[in-house]
Amino acid sequence: MQGLIFDIRRFSVNDGPGIRTTIFFKGCPLNCFWCHNPESRNPFQEEMIVNKPLDGVQYSQAETVGQWMTVQEVVSKCLLDTAFMSESGGGVTLSGGEPLFQPDFTEALVNELSLLGIHVAVDTCGYASREIFERLLPKVHLWLFDFKGADIEKHKENTGVKPDLILQNLDFLISQKAEIILRYPVVPGFNDTEFDISALFHLLDKSRGRIKEVHLLPYHRLGEDKLRRLNISKPHIIPKSNSTAAARAIVSALASLPVTVKIGA
Ligand code: SF4
Repeated sequence: MQGLIFDIRRFSVNDGPGIRTTIFFKGCPLNCFWCHNPESRNPFQEEMIVNKPLDGVQYSQAETVGQWMTVQEVVSKCLLDTAFMSESGGGVTLSGGEPLFQPDFTEALVNELSLLGIHVAVDTCGYASREIFERLLPKVHLWLFDFKGADIEKHKENTGVKPDLILQNLDFLISQKAEIILRYPVVPGFNDTEFDISALFHLLDKSRGRIKEVHLLPYHRLGEDKLRRLNISKPHIIPKSNSTAAARAIVSALASLPVTVKIGA
């Protein structure tokens, strides 16, 4: 069995506890306009222009994004750093794109890592069938669950899907007492209104302490250059106001909850 992977990052410290190896899956069911990894969205290999310095001069060349890998090939990369992982309380994080978009490969990889006693975190947009969550639940130690907003129409317009399934899956994980860190991309004009912040507040309140941590991820513009290098002309909607200021306002609004709220991952 093979999975389509577009990057493997070693020594990551922003994708869960400790030092981690992060596996980036290619393919995502959403199409968020702010996506800072647009090369992760298509579930197939594609060309992207990369700039490389050589003897002080910048060269541009097309490179293929995405590599088909077996479970054993991915596990071998993870095994390079198990000493750092156990020393730091780290592990492996499956990210993307969307790992649950390749469910059979993800399940096989999680099973293998679990047999090796490696801590596994899954970073997900939450848009997958309940059955996939049920299959993975016993072996995943931590869910980094993206919640992008509760306004149904804005969510559909800006990500391509309604939030209902995502919220149902989040409820399911909460009901199963899973470990969850909620990740909230702060995109001014999309999910920083009073309605949005109130919806986030109630969601956390309703989790009855199951969600202990929220990471607010301010919008940034890294994806724009990548869109150009992928030759995608889709307009990138640039929020007019400051996303870090919006994130600070959200921190204040959530202050009365028993939840650790961080800006950044
Ligand atoms: S869910 Fe994540 S990877 Fe998928 S399009 Fe949105 S931001 Fe990009």
